Amino acid sequence: MKPKNTHQVGPGEVVGLEVKTNALVRVLTPYGCQVVDTWGFHISSDIEYLSMAHNHTALYRTRFKVGDTLVSNKFTPLLRLENDTTDGFHDSFHAACSMGSYSFFGETNHHPNCEDNLRQTLKEYGLECQITPPPWNLFERSVIDERGRLHDEATGSTAGDFVELRVERDLLLIFSACRSTVGNINNGRPLGAEIWVFDPEIQ
Ligand SMILES: [Zn+2]
Repeated sequence: MKPKNTHQVGPGEVVGLEVKTNALVRVLTPYGCQVVDTWGFHISSDIEYLSMAHNHTALYRTRFKVGDTLVSNKFTPLLRLENDTTDGFHDSFHAACSMGSYSFFGETNHHPNCEDNLRQTLKEYGLECQITPPPWNLFERSVIDERGRLHDEATGSTAGDFVELRVERDLLLIFSACRSTVGNINNGRPLGAEIWVFDPEIQ
């Protein structure tokens, strides 16, 4: 199956895609070390979006696996995880990087951040979300230990790994290739991602 559209997303870049129900979207890490902050908004609605906390509740798990249906903040099905070539670690705890987070962690080297990428993309689609929903951070390996501490480990993803998402409802999907090197994110080497859309109905 050949993709209808492919999008290169360089480090610090973002892509927004309107996708119809039943579209299949592949998020690919060509070099194996690119975290992709992923958001989904119900088209024309900045108040219904993919929510990690609601998925923890819906699935009673903190990691999602092939076959899971991921829901919105209103518990509406939005995406189904249809394929995953990685070891299954995709962070659902960390907030998006932002001007505030970089300042908090003492990073003075300013560069694009995922929160600004989200806001700019929403604006392009006529939306303005008052909050920044914590994203699903694809290919980011975070682990919670027995004492509840959160650890960022080197990603287990390798070059060419991908996740495929089946769209369950018309959505605006936003993918931001995180530029951060705080902790072990991106293994210290953000190198970019690719988004492939297989459905010809993409707008
Ligand atoms: Zn980021």
